[in-house]
Amino acid sequence: MLFSELGLAPEILRAIEDKGYTQPTPIQEQAIPWVLQGRDVLGCAQTGTGKTASFTLPMIDILASGRARARMPRSLILEPTRELAAQVAESFETYGKHHKLSMALLIGGETFTEQVKRLDRGVDVLIATPGRLIDLFERGNIMLNDIKVFVIDEADRMLDMGFIPDIERIVSKLPKLRQTLFFSATMPPEIRRLADAFLSNPKEVTVAPPASPAETVTQAMVLVQEEDKRKALRHLLRTEDVKNAFIFCNRKRDVALLQKSLESHGFNAGALHGDMVQSKRMETLDAFKKGEITLLVCSDVAARGLDVQGLSHVFNFDVPISAEDYVHRIGRTGRAGRTGRAFTLASPLDGKQVSAIGRLIKREIPLIAIDGLESAEFLSEDEARRGRSRGRGKDKDKDKDRGDRAPRERAERAEREERAPREERQAREERQPREDRPSRDERPVREERQPRESLAAAESRRQEPRRDRDRDRDRDRRRRRDEDEDDTPVIGFGDHMPAFMLRSARRPAPVEPAEQSPQES
Ligand code: AMP
Repeated sequence: MLFSELGLAPEILRAIEDKGYTQPTPIQEQAIPWVLQGRDVLGCAQTGTGKTASFTLPMIDILASGRARARMPRSLILEPTRELAAQVAESFETYGKHHKLSMALLIGGETFTEQVKRLDRGVDVLIATPGRLIDLFERGNIMLNDIKVFVIDEADRMLDMGFIPDIERIVSKLPKLRQTLFFSATMPPEIRRLADAFLSNPKEVTVAPPASPAETVTQAMVLVQEEDKRKALRHLLRTEDVKNAFIFCNRKRDVALLQKSLESHGFNAGALHGDMVQSKRMETLDAFKKGEITLLVCSDVAARGLDVQGLSHVFNFDVPISAEDYVHRIGRTGRAGRTGRAFTLASPLDGKQVSAIGRLIKREIPLIAIDGLESAEFLSEDEARRGRSRGRGKDKDKDKDRGDRAPRERAERAEREERAPREERQAREERQPREDRPSRDERPVREERQPRESLAAAESRRQEPRRDRDRDRDRDRRRRRDEDEDDTPVIGFGDHMPAFMLRSARRPAPVEPAEQSPQES
């Protein structure tokens, strides 16, 4: 089928041609004609299937006539993450370039002022994350009673992220008479119930069986001890032909640690997780898309829907806790018919999660060995449970999710030691008694050279609070004084000793009562 057969306007067909697409993908082929007819659509499709264009293309067509009024957007698209929202906005820009539709992106982590100004000018397409939309609604900056087309994208993700109550609230503010397009990668019963509540007589469009990973992704798994996972990852990164890769961790704090570890081993790696400020998230993603960063260590915030053209690899540094996340993670590669490779690093405690993934994708992920690393085996569920509670030990009340973290922490500690910055070592040395410190000659020559202070560092140093500078100066003075205590002349009277100090401080003899002179009596 050709795009021209779908009933889209000539300007849109031109934009598609400019983008270089020749044929619609199956979801586009099935959904676009229904959307153009004004029908509600329930789409079950994974990301990577061309799902975004299946709603943006016909929406541009529908919204081409008519004008938006201030604060009353004409269409609304809800996305679970800021990155996805930004991606949909890009899609509108690409396909709507021959139209004059106005668009606003309402996402958290950015100032309200600019977003409110946009809304005041009137927008045809409003793309938002649920939280920010509700904030603006409550402040009275937006009215939702002119929405003609409403899209819920990644509904199952919204459910996972706890957005459903927000969405229900938003839907209650929308006009009853509207067109609703509802997309989800999977269709569990809760999602189906929501779809029944929000959609009216929808056309159902399914392009791949739920949760089936793209056939174009080659999958493999490495099973090693937890503390060997970093080595295994480095080995894979060096031996695979990695053009660019997402490396997924289950915990946000591990994202930063792994990224630092990779950097210290000379890899060009960035980090992306939900606790980072939005500007930094966007900046990092942009650098990754431009190829300035090759490896992006990330949490599941990047797993859903993020579209990086031609991603060659996905690495699961941790086996995902939910089997569905596995499908989403590896679905970042092998997109739009391209091939991709996905490697998962498992440890002996991950047997249960790996079985759940196998059941979901209806196949076993092939195990591969890594040269120089001993392969491990999965523990039975009982052993794994015991292993986890041992790992938790006395900290179990403090941090219930530690489980198998003890070996990982050991590995991290070893790495931290390896790259302990010079200052840290110096500070440690200073805490040691003098006689225990390595003599200057014993220290590595490399450490002798002071790095040149960069202009930026000098500038920030100049602006350091005076207190800090004074404290540093005092500390330096103190240290110098300690180091030189043997040779430094005592400051005092020098050679001159005032005469009064040489005099003995004998107490004057008590005055004896004088004998009475004969004259006085
Ligand atoms: P999506 O599932 O919307 O995230 O799209 C996945 C990727 O497929 C994106 O990079 C799109 O630009 C690309 N894409 C969308 N439609 C087509 C098409 N008809 N032909 C080729 N690639 C497409």
